[in-house]
Amino acid sequence: MDRQKDFVLRTIEDRDVRFVRLWFTDVIGTLKSVALAPAEVEAAFSEGLGFDGSSIDGYTRISESDMLLQPDPSTFQILPWRDEAGNSSRMYCDVLTPDRRPAPADPRNVLRRVLDRASGMGFSCYTHPEIEFYLLASDTPGPDGEPVPVDRAGYFDHVPGGAAQDFRRDAVMMLEDMGISVEFSHHETGPGQNEIDLRAADALTTADNVQTFRTIMKEVAAHQGIYATFMPKPFGRHPGSGMHTHFSLFEGDANAFYDPADEFRLSVTGRRFIAGLLRHSVEMSLVTHQFVNSYKRLWGADEAPSYVSWGHNNRSALVRVPLYKPDKAGSARIEYRGLDASANPYLAYALLIAAGLRGIEEGYDLPEPASEDVGALSAQERRVLGHDSLPGTLHDAVRAAEESEFMAEVLGEHVYEALLRNKRQEWDDYRVEITPYELRRYLTGL
Ligand code: GLN
Ligand code: MG
Ligand code: MG
Ligand code: MG
Repeated sequence: MDRQKDFVLRTIEDRDVRFVRLWFTDVIGTLKSVALAPAEVEAAFSEGLGFDGSSIDGYTRISESDMLLQPDPSTFQILPWRDEAGNSSRMYCDVLTPDRRPAPADPRNVLRRVLDRASGMGFSCYTHPEIEFYLLASDTPGPDGEPVPVDRAGYFDHVPGGAAQDFRRDAVMMLEDMGISVEFSHHETGPGQNEIDLRAADALTTADNVQTFRTIMKEVAAHQGIYATFMPKPFGRHPGSGMHTHFSLFEGDANAFYDPADEFRLSVTGRRFIAGLLRHSVEMSLVTHQFVNSYKRLWGADEAPSYVSWGHNNRSALVRVPLYKPDKAGSARIEYRGLDASANPYLAYALLIAAGLRGIEEGYDLPEPASEDVGALSAQERRVLGHDSLPGTLHDAVRAAEESEFMAEVLGEHVYEALLRNKRQEWDDYRVEITPYELRRYLTGL
């Protein structure tokens, strides 16, 4: 730790860094930033930097508002974007209470707690996200009320000279400049929709990387005069934006999900992990699908999962297990396809990993895989096969979370209550809105 701190202090001097941005995240996943003068960094390392927690969504009440930011020197990076090139840097922070204990409101701390538990069980947790987003001409809708995508291209399309291509090139280079390795990038199915897949890293680093990723996409888009959105479902007629995430657990060097003796090379630990994801998927939907709009993606077809199911090569399934190649034992992994692109990665990964760990600890049984399109079955067939529905609306998700001892335990009382408060308010705001749909449908003729 001390060596890392020294490295940061030396780099700030050698590279003539003028601003050190301290980054942290609120309960909904909004990135927060405060710029520190280089001369203050040493003190921030030793004492933390005080701030008013009551102004951050879900943090504290006014009466106990003092909090501290403790920069994590292992996350130090120079910011490569144009306007700041060279003279700005950032570090992620852990949030502490005035008596220097981890703040219960800090999503990064919620994830750390789960990873510590995993480590107590002998596991290190790795994740790799596939992040989808739309590139739009601007942040305001066109004359027909719909957002305007930058192109009309589709899945894997190569558009010579197209905006998306230039965008992906610049975006991937910038990610790599910040130490975030990219595995794939391509045009997705919707017009203007793109996907970038990050390489696997430990879950905390990945969550930090997702936050950095969103910032970089917005910076690069702004620089090119376009707009990037992670809204889960910006168009009724086109696919939503998911953040499918692949999970793997390692015991030392061994991938705990791999078993060469099994038909699908899936270990008992892997089966139980999946069973945990499935069993807790409905109650944790308030985090994995946290906005009113998230449910438009889930129920708007286009390969977003709506029912609790798992399968090998079934893209209607909530959990998919890619068929592992025997020579690639290390790459055995489990893909959760529910997450959308707007989720708070810290809380979502904390819950998903905790659900899998609970499956392992309690020895949950894994139901049969779904081999057919679960959405095409009748409601009766789904009932018989045990494919529950994910919540239909944010309101249903709030109800499921209110009943959930699992959510309260993993998030901790503070985040759990703050989230419920925030989401009840969102639903109350939404349910009294008169939408364009209602005006179109009811204004004339009634
Ligand atoms: N866009 C789809 C989703 O919302 C995923 C499509 C795909 O990558 N197969 O999850
Ligand atoms: Mg993909
Ligand atoms: Mg995709
Ligand atoms: Mg996928």
